[in-house]
Amino acid sequence: MSLVRVTAEQAELGERARAFVDDVLIPREEAAERAGGRLPEEDVREIMKAAVAARLNGGRHAPEHGGQGWSTVDYVMVHEQLGRNTNGLWWWVPDAYNVLAAGTPDQIERYLRPALRGDAWVSYAVTEEHAGSDPSGITTTAVPDGDGWLLNGEKWFVTSGDVAAAHIVVAVVEGHGPTLFIVDADTEGLEFVDEPLFTHTFPHGHPTVRLTDVRVPGDAVLGGLGQADALQQNWFVEERLGIAVHCVAAMGRLLEEAVAWAGGREQGGARLIDHQGVAFPLADSAADAAAARLLVHEVAALADSGADRKIVHAKASIAKLFASEAAYRCADRAVQTFGGRGYIRTNVAERFLRELRVDRIWEGTSEIQRLIIARSLERRGVRQVIA
Ligand SMILES: Cc1cc2nc3c(=O)[nH]c(=O)nc-3n(C[C@H](O)[C@H](O)[C@H](O)COP(=O)(O)OP(=O)(O)OC[C@H]3O[C@@H](n4cnc5c(N)ncnc54)[C@H](O)[C@@H]3O)c2cc1C
Repeated sequence: MSLVRVTAEQAELGERARAFVDDVLIPREEAAERAGGRLPEEDVREIMKAAVAARLNGGRHAPEHGGQGWSTVDYVMVHEQLGRNTNGLWWWVPDAYNVLAAGTPDQIERYLRPALRGDAWVSYAVTEEHAGSDPSGITTTAVPDGDGWLLNGEKWFVTSGDVAAAHIVVAVVEGHGPTLFIVDADTEGLEFVDEPLFTHTFPHGHPTVRLTDVRVPGDAVLGGLGQADALQQNWFVEERLGIAVHCVAAMGRLLEEAVAWAGGREQGGARLIDHQGVAFPLADSAADAAAARLLVHEVAALADSGADRKIVHAKASIAKLFASEAAYRCADRAVQTFGGRGYIRTNVAERFLRELRVDRIWEGTSEIQRLIIARSLERRGVRQVIA
């Protein structure tokens, strides 16, 4: 019994996603771990095929663009299942950043449709060496060059940049401000200058991409000159809610596995779960998971109800902050429950402990979420933000 109310269709959608995760993703976790995150091509093809067959690709995108047309609650129903697997295997479900929906018919045909079919990846490059939490420091520029643009700059941590057919690049246009450009990956002047190894083992890399006099045509602008901030504003709500719901999912999986283990293993003449020192952290994790889930569903329902965007934005920050911090606590407790086994990479808690760390960093660090929440407490009022 849950206070979270969903329709029969949404419940079916959630069950469909759960079956996909249980049957297709979870069995491949260990292989992905052993391969440093990179599964063989054959496995990748099977995952994508199964995702498309289960109608999980392109979730929030419009059906006329090749997506499923999900509401925010639909999206949450699916991702509270997708986040149950480790190694970021859900990333193989074909999808695309929502800003692409603002593209021209030609951009939608060339970039969005192939991405939703699983035929191409499109990365999103905002962060720079000196512009992370504070994007006002972005120094990548785009200057007019005949009927096109000339881009110069360097982007860091470009997720899927190593496999992307195109990158959405944020560059500053004089007189207009930050603007999105779609840059084909094979354009002259675009190069990878670093491919760092990261704490998690993820399907794709997060390389550093340098643009030196990269010439793009006039129709490479996405969503209009100076529109980057406005377009990203919507993106932030979706991405932050996405991270929050993945953390909820991870907490559920961690609890399932830790409770099963603690109920089965005996030490000191009793089952682990009968030792209060083991049981109480599990109870704390259950409280964290349940609270985070309610928050996530509330934000999703609010977003669908057409509530004030600024309030939804603040609440998405609360959900991301709470769920990501809580999930990391839960992973640490689960490792402790498994003892030495929790330190072996074949153990789900070990993998989640590494993988959940980034959820407190990307799409706005926990500190940045606190700044957003604190500002909205003043501007929107305490009751609006917490009610
Ligand atoms: C695995 C991974 C994938 C990523 N993928 C992408 C991607 O696809 N595209 C992309 O554009 N970016 C991506 N990023 C970048 C990510 O969004 C940034 O790392 C993040 O926004 C933080 O920026 P930063 O690393 O420069 O840290 P900084 O901004 O330098 O922050 C460092 C520390 O200072 C704190 N801090 C900063 N400012 C304040 C403040 N005003 N008040 C209090 N504390 C503050 C931060 O919270 C943090 O703890 C990715 C990062 C990682 C690790």
